Amino acid sequence: MRRATAFLTALILLCTLPAATAQVRHEIHFPDLPDYRTLKCDFHTHTVFSDGVVWPTVRIDEAWRQGLDVIAITDHLEYQPHKQDLPTNHNRPYELVAGRARERGILLIRGAEITRDTPPGHHNAIFLSDVSPLETEDFYAVFDEAQRQRAFVFWNHPGWQGAERGTWGEWQAKLYEKKQLHGIEICNGGSYYAYAHGLALEKKLALVGNSDIHDPSLETERTRTPTEHRTLTLVFANEKTIEGLREALFAGRTAVWYQNQLIGREPELAAMVSACIRVNPPHHRAGNRVWVKIENLCELDIELQRVGEVGPGRIKLPARATALVRIDAPAEALSAGLPYRATNFLTGPDQSLSVKLVVPDR
Ligand code: ZN
Repeated sequence: MRRATAFLTALILLCTLPAATAQVRHEIHFPDLPDYRTLKCDFHTHTVFSDGVVWPTVRIDEAWRQGLDVIAITDHLEYQPHKQDLPTNHNRPYELVAGRARERGILLIRGAEITRDTPPGHHNAIFLSDVSPLETEDFYAVFDEAQRQRAFVFWNHPGWQGAERGTWGEWQAKLYEKKQLHGIEICNGGSYYAYAHGLALEKKLALVGNSDIHDPSLETERTRTPTEHRTLTLVFANEKTIEGLREALFAGRTAVWYQNQLIGREPELAAMVSACIRVNPPHHRAGNRVWVKIENLCELDIELQRVGEVGPGRIKLPARATALVRIDAPAEALSAGLPYRATNFLTGPDQSLSVKLVVPDR
């Protein structure tokens, strides 16, 4: 009996000791580009400090587990449904978890969501030094203050709500003219806005895609596949610092990872495809027929469609795997490169990236 009690005591002690094992992180595999680091970022998240349902610490921990490098907590300024329980303090979510983010190597950005009825709709301001002065009645005064704090500002989910459904209005035009609008969310959670994508290209605004997460992320953590994952912005930065990130965003060096697509501008997407695909020399030949192993190092299935006459009509390179591809082509054509389109690398609403599949001789 006494032995049983001792055993039970030991067991209870063991269970109450703080666990030393670390949480598990699942990296998101998008390689760095030759000149830039690839940072996986979510610039639109909520906590109980507005209409989210989690304490800010949860946002940091899940970002780490899900393989993110950067998050911004962007609670609504004007929509505070929990204010009877939690007094409005716009800087508090950032302050509460800045240390925790540093411990986990997550770059945390202080932000806010400027929440007005559509039109003009919602906008996020990030890289703020003090959120409180942005809570002011006059719409344009909010953006003057954001500009004074060197904030990066983007238009959120332009296709959402209101009769105009996200069309570019006088408000956006005026902010744009005053250089107070720098990006557009072309993807938000499970939505893609083709019209906003076109606008961003036309106005040379940064392409941004975010989760706009309000709930805990547990569901998306369990089901991550190339098509089902947290919508994110990849930022191609000189360094993983606030200033590095700010420079890259203002320069528009981004791509949006959305449902097995990468949406961006030609230079960054071309560099990313080159970094992702490794074509090996043929390991077997029979006449003009070769067998080649093609590796895909990145997180999405790469879908290639033939443009010319030579090579398989379609090639699918599964995420983080190696595909065996048989190509019927003379050696000169292989080393010159076979023209393809990467149909899930979008350079415009109806445009995909051109790629050349070069098969090295040895
Ligand atoms: Zn939001």
